[in-house]
Amino acid sequence: MQSFKLLKPHVYLDESNNGRRSEPTLKGGCCRCGFVFFPMQTYGCERCGSHGNALAPRSLSTHGTLLASAVVHLHADKSRTTPFTIVKVALDDGPVVRTLLASDCGDVAPGRRMKAKLEPLRGDDGETVFDLRFTTADQDHQEQHHGAPPQ
Ligand SMILES: [Zn+2]
Repeated sequence: MQSFKLLKPHVYLDESNNGRRSEPTLKGGCCRCGFVFFPMQTYGCERCGSHGNALAPRSLSTHGTLLASAVVHLHADKSRTTPFTIVKVALDDGPVVRTLLASDCGDVAPGRRMKAKLEPLRGDDGETVFDLRFTTADQDHQEQHHGAPPQ
């Protein structure tokens, strides 16, 4: 069985054990005060300042709503293929994630329902690595939503 390499395994996981290759788990956290954040960290809660074991890891919904997007046509790093689109997505669990739009996704506008996916990228050494992207979720939102119910 081929192993899949993730670009940022500390931020998200691949739920390959349930057979959905492109369905990631977002590794967020929750403070005892109820504040939910992403990615997981133990430095301190942005709301109440608690740290250490007041902050516990929590898997977050991969669904959210698009807040803003920006198309980048020129990038200082010449190895990046342009244009690409940066999106800001408010997860259903609260935290706002800033990442790239999936390369096979068309135009998006604020308010669109989005979901996270893992997209294969060609690494410098020719090895395939997967990184987190967001794509539109309208069409398959119903049958794809299998996460925990909102609290
Ligand atoms: Zn807190």
